[in-house]
Amino acid sequence: MSDDLRELYQELVLDHGRHPRNRRHPDSFNHEAFGKNPMCGDALVVYLMLDPQGVVTDCAFMGEGCAISMASASLMTEIVRGKTVDQANALFAAFQHLATGEGEVDESVLDEDDLDRLQALSGVRQFPIRVKCATLAWHTLHAAMQGEEMVSTE
Ligand code: ZN
Repeated sequence: MSDDLRELYQELVLDHGRHPRNRRHPDSFNHEAFGKNPMCGDALVVYLMLDPQGVVTDCAFMGEGCAISMASASLMTEIVRGKTVDQANALFAAFQHLATGEGEVDESVLDEDDLDRLQALSGVRQFPIRVKCATLAWHTLHAAMQGEEMVSTE
């Protein structure tokens, strides 16, 4: 990624942190989970609407936390919409890889634009304590899709 593009994406993260998208309680949803990151105090609920084919037709969240956790949740709700559960899990794995350097990314199943957006948050890699802030929403999404009610990054 070029420096210009990197800057653009960092601005994207700041913007999502200040003005989170899909921070609302949806009228209808069929999956939800609560996630917390006690290290920082981030706490959020992720709401999901999955259609019978396992496609995310709506994703929203409610909660409070630091700018990174809110920006990550906001970006996530935009990225996973229209994705299947498998694609969303692949994105989660890719993001964990970008944020921690652990695991591997199967880029063949991922959209380049989505990867670039996730890359924007991967600057947290330099700040291990922030990784949990950035991945909280994704852990919570994963829990919701698995039918688990609660997840803690502790
Ligand atoms: Zn945080």
